[in-house]
Amino acid sequence: MDYREKIAAVRERIERACERTGRRPEEVTVIAVTKYVGVEETRAILAAGIRDLGENRVQQALPKLDAIRQPATWHFIGYLQTNKVKDVLPHFAWIHSLDRLSLAKELQKQAEKRDLHVTCLVQVNISGEPTKSGLPPLELAAFLDEIKLLNRIRVRGLMTMAPIADDPEQVRPVFRGLRELRDRLLPAYPELQHLSMGMSGDFEVAVEEGATMVRLGSILVKP
Ligand SMILES: *Cc1c(COP(=O)(O)O)cnc(C)c1O
Repeated sequence: MDYREKIAAVRERIERACERTGRRPEEVTVIAVTKYVGVEETRAILAAGIRDLGENRVQQALPKLDAIRQPATWHFIGYLQTNKVKDVLPHFAWIHSLDRLSLAKELQKQAEKRDLHVTCLVQVNISGEPTKSGLPPLELAAFLDEIKLLNRIRVRGLMTMAPIADDPEQVRPVFRGLRELRDRLLPAYPELQHLSMGMSGDFEVAVEEGATMVRLGSILVKP
């Protein structure tokens, strides 16, 4: 499997989505979600020109983090258990799944201990599916106010997961909803620069709606 070709094809599709909406392709970071593959494949993806890697399980990610010494920016994209914060904190540059105050407090505590800062996106449940994690949109502003009191946490934007859909147009309202929520809050919360949204099946729609980070697993790295 040729990672360079796959990456080029994805970038090309992102460029076209940007052209359609007057955006610049440099605004969109491709995060290769390597949860489906092991150390060797992850190395090959880095060698093919990817810099940003996403993992959603701490246990699966740790051996890779240990083995891979190439420069890479790691993103934690899955549900983060409070007792796993210790393991995640030193390795991951971004946490996309900050979704509750108890997690924020643990991140603050562990970051303080290690004299670190932690860069986070707040996960929002736009679709309202009960099985999805993320804050209800109406609670976001109050949550951001609480987080401001935690000086080790740097919020840089919002993340959402769209429902599985056969037709990506069905989930456009979810991506649009996240962007509109961000746009409404931006005057008071200028730190909300990033929107992490879009996966293999729907990333072009997400880019059209303003994604700055797309999390691509199967389309790039499925064996
Ligand atoms: C697995 C995963 C992805 C990537 O999904 P694909 O459909 O394989 O691209 C993106 N985001 C999260 C949170 C994931 O767990």
